[in-house]
Amino acid sequence: MITLKEALTKSKEELALFRTELESKAKESGLNAYIGYESSGEGVPILIKDNIQVKDWSVTSASKILQGYIAPYDATAIVNLKANGMMAFGRANMDEFAMGSTTESSYYGPTKNPYGEDRVPGGSSGGSAAAVAAGIAIAALGSDTGGSIRQPAAYCGCVGMKPTYGRVSRYGLAAYASSLDQIGPITQNVEDAAILYDAIKGHDPKDSTSAEFEKEDIANNIDVNRKLTIAVIDNYISEADEEIQKAYADTVKALEAAGHMIVHKNMQNTKYDIATYYILATAEAATNLARFDGIRYGNRAEANNVEELFYKTRSQGFGEEVKRRILLGNFVLSSGYYDAYYLKAQKVRHLVRDEFNAIFKEADLILSPVAPSVAPKIGAVHDPLEMYKSDMYTIAINLAGLPAISLPVAKNDEGMPIGLQLIAKAFNEKTLFDGAASMEKAVNYIK
Ligand code: GLN
Repeated sequence: MITLKEALTKSKEELALFRTELESKAKESGLNAYIGYESSGEGVPILIKDNIQVKDWSVTSASKILQGYIAPYDATAIVNLKANGMMAFGRANMDEFAMGSTTESSYYGPTKNPYGEDRVPGGSSGGSAAAVAAGIAIAALGSDTGGSIRQPAAYCGCVGMKPTYGRVSRYGLAAYASSLDQIGPITQNVEDAAILYDAIKGHDPKDSTSAEFEKEDIANNIDVNRKLTIAVIDNYISEADEEIQKAYADTVKALEAAGHMIVHKNMQNTKYDIATYYILATAEAATNLARFDGIRYGNRAEANNVEELFYKTRSQGFGEEVKRRILLGNFVLSSGYYDAYYLKAQKVRHLVRDEFNAIFKEADLILSPVAPSVAPKIGAVHDPLEMYKSDMYTIAINLAGLPAISLPVAKNDEGMPIGLQLIAKAFNEKTLFDGAASMEKAVNYIK
């Protein structure tokens, strides 16, 4: 597959032919990574997750409740894509409302991992990552609330980047947990991730949490030779499978050999991150999803009165995982529990951020696993708590609002990709990409 950088040099005619080819290859692949083949704009085709609005396209967040809903406008990330030589092409499968880690909760059925078709591609941006990995998309957009870009990228051997909270406008992104959500790129390599990130980022008055900064050109200024101080979190690693630990140790050696300085640090137990995230994310989700009532968007159930309409539409329209989160979220926000859970979680969130900031006083970047294992088999994760645990390395970064990038470093004995992530200080994407480019070169991952 040609890279995004190469594709940007192709003519309109070449790209049109290319789209037809992509569509037939995607259909033949049987991966269920694409759930639609609409196109909008002109330029290099970029695959779009089903929770980002593209004007006149269906946008359903892979939910039954949004069947039939057509987006009335382009998300700002899409407007920005189109202004930078790219277009929206095709809908990527995902977990319903971006809640999940496997893409199995999609109304359209699970996506398969191209590295092992009995395996999940990760989630929630599983369709985006599987398509890029399988060579049926040049690059894709995903969204990351607690790891949904980085973890599928790691499971599928591609690059996934979560920008600092506030860097990319959330206008036109279906809200899951508004204080954590960010749109970001899933690509074949680090340079393409920088190109796509550069294109979509920027201040947007339509998103009140959007940050006001000069737009810097990162992709053309990546310094692969910059020497950085990289922190490794010693007490994190033992919780990962042995093959992940080995890949981690090898990567640390490769980074040292490339001239980076390694410093050793400890952080609090990841179990606090999981508890904090699943209180805050579900609280926000319960609030955000209250708008889907059968009146304003998508599917409407037959009913005799308004109460029954809400009840039936929501009962029939939401899947099991989404209902679980709405219940949890309403519980932690209810009077009597609000202080004990929600407020406490907000306090822990501050502690998480303080802990990262303390490390960034001595280090430019942090190296961490993305997930404790390689991609599990389809159907293997039954227990929701088991699934939540698999987010232990990614969610703290969203709680702290930091930028991070996941890149493939090795494969296990069965040929399944292993990804690791670099984490940077808020708004320091330049350092993140410099480090990632150097790490990509140092580990020399073979697809
Ligand atoms: N797996 C996490 C969750 O289910 C993260 C999902 C995401 O980043 N959208 O909430």
